[in-house]
Amino acid sequence: MTASVPPEKMHAISHDTRSIVDEVLDYARRRAVYENVPLDKPLTPRDLSRLASGSISADGIGARRAIALFENVLAPACVTTDHPAYLSFIPSAPTKAAIAFDLVVSASSVYGGSWMEGSGAVFAENEVLHWLAAEFGLPQGAGGVFMQGGTIGNLSALVTARDVARRRNRDLGRPDPGRWAVVGSAEAHSSIASAAAVMDVDVVDVPTGDDGRLHGDAVARALDEHGDAVFAVVATGGTTNFGIVDDIASVADAVKERGVWLHIDGAYGLAAMLVDRMRPVFAGVEKADSLIVDPHKWLFAPFDACALIYRDPDQALLAHTQKAEYLDTLTGGADWNPSDLGIQLTRRARGLPLWFSLATHGTDEYRSAIEHGIDLAREIADEIERRPGLSLVRDPQLSVVVFRREGWSLADYAAWSDQLLEEQLGFVVPSSHRGEPVLRFAIVSPLTTFELLTSILDTLA
Ligand SMILES: *Cc1c(COP(=O)(O)O)cnc(C)c1O
Repeated sequence: MTASVPPEKMHAISHDTRSIVDEVLDYARRRAVYENVPLDKPLTPRDLSRLASGSISADGIGARRAIALFENVLAPACVTTDHPAYLSFIPSAPTKAAIAFDLVVSASSVYGGSWMEGSGAVFAENEVLHWLAAEFGLPQGAGGVFMQGGTIGNLSALVTARDVARRRNRDLGRPDPGRWAVVGSAEAHSSIASAAAVMDVDVVDVPTGDDGRLHGDAVARALDEHGDAVFAVVATGGTTNFGIVDDIASVADAVKERGVWLHIDGAYGLAAMLVDRMRPVFAGVEKADSLIVDPHKWLFAPFDACALIYRDPDQALLAHTQKAEYLDTLTGGADWNPSDLGIQLTRRARGLPLWFSLATHGTDEYRSAIEHGIDLAREIADEIERRPGLSLVRDPQLSVVVFRREGWSLADYAAWSDQLLEEQLGFVVPSSHRGEPVLRFAIVSPLTTFELLTSILDTLA
């Protein structure tokens, strides 16, 4: 038996919406402008079942109840990643302009995959990508696409790199190697190993120098040893755990001499290249064949966005364009279709919040907001060195500070961290370095202050 739907409810999903939109926008406004949003903390599955079950029903609970459930129960069970005291992993710190415009992207149902359907949005995204490409020293003609995140951006770039190597072998009448390999440092992000697993290729881990950085001589040795099996080398522009930037200039020389694809994983750290005095640290980036930087990390955009940029985007088209009869009208022409540059088809115009915020504030504000994180990391590192019982694990290069509380075990760190969140003073989870448990401040938010960080250090006494 089929339950019949009363006629007045038939089109509820497409009509009767003004009050629902008001309800949602009211909450969004409260959340977006609320200056003192609490850090919040996770609840257990049992607590959430007790407090929040039963919202999915045949008749619906209505927007008012659903919003109330979100505001009062579900949202407080999500840690506020853009809180100035959120210092774990890589925090987020979207500008209010970017947050607000993300609502517009949602409200507009823009399809960002093809020029035919989304030319205005794609044009605006490209303005941002071209600005970034120029900042990173890439030539005119460089371009790319905003992907979901660094993991999928790295994967897409590496798939392009392997496709280039395969096509070159075909052109030269050479067989492909039995196993392909990607070369990176032992400190490279886990997403590189994950991409290699998806692609079923080997990873050659090259040891870093004592400074924690990948250097050209070690890369040259690896390339000479593994020869034509290597389709790409990945250098990291700011490791996630420490913010270490590889010696990209010497790596680039070794890689380019041997005609191999150079990819820069700058998901977190490459944003620092927008600060003038930091540019020398990133020398060599201008030689990249592809690179990524995540706007949702240190470019003050909301989740989720990764800018993937190619020196020669045509190489990516060859690797990624999906062919299907129903798509024929879109593909094969001269139009700029973002979907064809990475692993995706349907695409949210996820670069638009960054475009709007950059257009609103101007690039200078971005440079000084990034510089704030670098300066603050230096100041709090000096303070840590001054305090008895605390010591740095290494000097910060970007905005990550790793340090230890002498005499503490992992259990001590974990208990301290839980208590800090319980008291809503900060979100600082333990990390580890060569088996030693350590603490880590990752600073992104311009609202994070020296006083806030010293108040957290005080609890370590
Ligand atoms: C965060 C990060 C990634 C992964 O990016 P997601 O957006 O989380 O997928 C890759 N590489 C580095 C260096 C990162 O810091």
